[in-house]
Amino acid sequence: MSTKLRVGILGATGTVGQRFIQLLENHPQFEVTALAASDRSAGKTYADACAWRLPGDMPEGVKRIMVRPPAPPLDCDFVFSSLPGDVAGEAEESFARAGYPTITNSSSHRMDADVPLLIPEVNHEHLALIGAQRAARGYDRGYIVTNPNCSTIVIAMALAPLHARFGVASCIATTMQAISGAGYPGVPSMDINDNVLPYIGGEEEKIESETLKILGRVNKETISNAEMQVSAQCNRVNVTDGHMASMRVKLSQPASLDEVRDALASFTSLPQQLKLRSAPGTPIIVRDEADRPQPRLDRDAGNGMSVTVGRIAPDNVLDFRFVAVGHNTIRGAAGAAILNAELLVAMGKLE
Ligand code: NAP
Repeated sequence: MSTKLRVGILGATGTVGQRFIQLLENHPQFEVTALAASDRSAGKTYADACAWRLPGDMPEGVKRIMVRPPAPPLDCDFVFSSLPGDVAGEAEESFARAGYPTITNSSSHRMDADVPLLIPEVNHEHLALIGAQRAARGYDRGYIVTNPNCSTIVIAMALAPLHARFGVASCIATTMQAISGAGYPGVPSMDINDNVLPYIGGEEEKIESETLKILGRVNKETISNAEMQVSAQCNRVNVTDGHMASMRVKLSQPASLDEVRDALASFTSLPQQLKLRSAPGTPIIVRDEADRPQPRLDRDAGNGMSVTVGRIAPDNVLDFRFVAVGHNTIRGAAGAAILNAELLVAMGKLE
């Protein structure tokens, strides 16, 4: 008999849902047993409902699973959610209330005071919120754990080692975000070809607020936001996968260029110590070439789970500047949620 935990995926037919299915194929701890999507897909087999858009074939194991609406009960022990924000909030609460740990990359619950906004390398101690969440909401076995927005995760990972060692007083981030970040079919080709779109609805606000929560401290069972200023401007660019952020930081303590480089390059944390399956060996890869990082060359580093930082230099206005790249549907979405689940298993919170 399988000893794997049985997983349901909400939003299974979408861009992130397909990435979940790809990354969970042959996972030693998790087995996909339930899939949910919209009315358009419910009642069909996954093979009939889903137009598979990742390289390689749809995994055999999911083809005959019948797609259900995203409502409990589902035939699984916990759920990953990649539902659109407008339906995720209520659906995820109903799963948590029905006893399913709900590990989501949708935005609906990220800023709830009792919900961990988790990057395992950065703030694993925020999982202390789960107890308070269960008590406040009357959940028994269920709970909600979120991962950040796909650009925020790249920015927060790059800031975390600097904040831990020197303190970050302020950060200005300008993103160049891939088309796949908008889901499928996403931005019309007539808008994005030969063009840059200087607006992604809600994205700047998410980066500016989520980063403070992620880098905040736990006091008993609440989070005190990090005391820093974050300013973000977001652009959609004609790149398939991989979000880039051009960043400038002001530090709270003086630091040399070598010290900043070392803080980033030597960063390692609990997921690496625990050797979690999806944890990259090197969470932040520092590249010294003048023309790196680049989305096409660096998004797959660490199986898509590393953030690559380059162009580290002193800055004439703030203290330092650098460029960070991460894979938006892996480190920024499905891979992040799977790593969250692996950490929850290791900490005895997902059984
Ligand atoms: P997507 O490609 O548009 O997929 C949306 C999924 O949700 C599909 O499975 C779709 O099912 C389902 N769905 C749509 N409307 C629904 C409804 N009313 N009820 C139930 N299911 C519904 O979007 P995506 O890019 O995968 O994004 C999904 C979520 O992840 C969003 O909240 C997004 O903000 C977040 N996210 C995305 C990324 C990224 O890089 N793309 C990164 C981080 C977070 P059908 O196929 O049946 O329509």
